Amino acid sequence: MKKILLFIGLLIISSFLANAQKHAIKGSINTKLPSSKPSGEIIKRCGTTEHQQWMIQQNPELKEKIKLEEKKIREYIASHQQEIENSKAVYKIPCVVHIVKNGNSEDISDARVIEQINQTNLDWAGANGRSMGAFSSTLRANTQISLCLASVAPNGSATTGITRTSTTVSSFSDDDKVKHTNQGGCDAWDATRYFNIWVCDLPGLCGYAQLPQSGIDNTYGVVINYGFFGLTGATAPYNKGGTLSHEGGHCFGLEHIWGDDGGGCSGNDQCGDTPNQDDATYGNHLPYNANTNPGGNFNGAGQNSTTLTDACSTSSPGIMYMNFMDYCDDSEMANMTPNQKTRMQAFISQYLMSVVNAGATVCSGTTETQACDTLHYPLTGTATIYGSDNGGYVSGNNGYLDKAKAEYFATYSPYTKINSVILWFGVATHTGNTTNITVNVWKNDGTGGAPGTVIGTTTVPLATIVTNVDAGEATLATFSTPVNITGPFYIGVTLPTVSGDTIALVTNTDGDSNPATGWEKTSGNTWQAYSAASPAGWESNISNAIFPIVCTTTTGIEENYLEDILIYPNPANDVLNIDMANSSNSNVKINVYNSIGKLIKSIDGKNMSQIIKIDLASFNSGIYFVSIQTLEVTITKKISIIK
Ligand SMILES: [Zn+2]
Repeated sequence: MKKILLFIGLLIISSFLANAQKHAIKGSINTKLPSSKPSGEIIKRCGTTEHQQWMIQQNPELKEKIKLEEKKIREYIASHQQEIENSKAVYKIPCVVHIVKNGNSEDISDARVIEQINQTNLDWAGANGRSMGAFSSTLRANTQISLCLASVAPNGSATTGITRTSTTVSSFSDDDKVKHTNQGGCDAWDATRYFNIWVCDLPGLCGYAQLPQSGIDNTYGVVINYGFFGLTGATAPYNKGGTLSHEGGHCFGLEHIWGDDGGGCSGNDQCGDTPNQDDATYGNHLPYNANTNPGGNFNGAGQNSTTLTDACSTSSPGIMYMNFMDYCDDSEMANMTPNQKTRMQAFISQYLMSVVNAGATVCSGTTETQACDTLHYPLTGTATIYGSDNGGYVSGNNGYLDKAKAEYFATYSPYTKINSVILWFGVATHTGNTTNITVNVWKNDGTGGAPGTVIGTTTVPLATIVTNVDAGEATLATFSTPVNITGPFYIGVTLPTVSGDTIALVTNTDGDSNPATGWEKTSGNTWQAYSAASPAGWESNISNAIFPIVCTTTTGIEENYLEDILIYPNPANDVLNIDMANSSNSNVKINVYNSIGKLIKSIDGKNMSQIIKIDLASFNSGIYFVSIQTLEVTITKKISIIK
């Protein structure tokens, strides 16, 4: 009896499969003309250009100085371009955030400050995962520049890197009063050791910066309107940290991407890989949504693939409106280019090495730095959502009761771990607020290289996915512990089983990925590629819009260099030896700092190939930091001197 029932059961399933051959049906796409630029700029995005004019009015000699400094930096970049581009230098900039407040709303929390610093670091690392439209992902640079909140104050005491000053001044403007205690603001910390960030009420203005060409002095740094600093509680549409990421770019020498030429095509930003652009771009180009984004564009599947052109860049990929040095809404700011990275690194190496070097002692923790990339991003080909002939979606819940959808990643070098994953859903519905969607990472140790062992897992509330789909945004899922990767892997989602709960990922179009990298787990618990043959498969060469953010720690680079450069003895007494004999770096700068980061000794060495001896006669007992700066990297080693 049991056998027969089982047989009947199999027969039913077999006939179901035979009759129900999987077919993909391309989703219909509605169209709506792109919206024009917002009619009115509510708030001024950046006051840096005007602030520089103001500074020149105060000090007319500055005009010539800026010109001269710009000439010097261009010559430096021209003669060092390749070296900087190949450089492994990772610049960690110690910073202090001065909150100048006149009321509780301006007194933003430590958590919000940390959130902002983390976001800017993500932005500058090229790891925020936002779309670059039609531009190649090779134009998304990891600037290898990051900020860290100082843990040691100028007087040597411990600090959060955040100061709070109550003021009777009701609001500030771009006249630098906020940078002076005697004018109701807060004095800078030594600008040769800290990067100063002031946060205050700045009506009508997001923020402004002082350019490095103007001088690294007690007004150097950025001023940001508190409403647009941080994410949680910040004011849309500048509530994703873009203002600091933009203004900080100015502080490290970047110009506006359109070249500040008043709407013409003659100006440029000194970066050859940013397209010529006539003027600033405002607003956002995300999908239209009657409720959440009435000013957005509608391009079907829900991503800002809109290409914008202007009089200076008339054809695709158009202008790079998603660049941090344009004026779009924070939600669109996606990238700095490799040339922008070069310019930033050149300015840091020429103006700010004392700040970088101070970071070794005034920033807490190790000098560990991360390099990250977003795999398979952006989606190759044309984004779409395929429906299933049996109801539902190819890449989501469907009438075949598929159980999971995943993306295969064959290569990931040189990265070693998955920190998080961007999942771009095109469809999401829910019946309640309780469903969580499981996101897994699998090794490829299943049958025939299919997903096997689960090596990482996290969950995202379905309600979050629904909100993101409505807003035309992708969903970020973060692993509480980064997932180590040692071979090809899959990342995907388990489909919800509660009636009324539905998700479907965006995919590219059949043929865009050959072979298919999209996979699925069928109702029979079998894994197969989307390209699997009919009747069980879709016979489609497509990828799911799943983009893992993979990272590596690069402390290894510094350790390798340390193997070449020997510092001994440690502890030292009368002489410290720095042995460069095995190093390929003969041009070095050696700085010795005391435990609170004060520079004690500096040696500028050319063609050093032997042992450098530092006489310690004038040193007191204590902890010191020896910083060795080569063209490629700065390494710092802690030593003890015992008398
Ligand atoms: Zn600006």
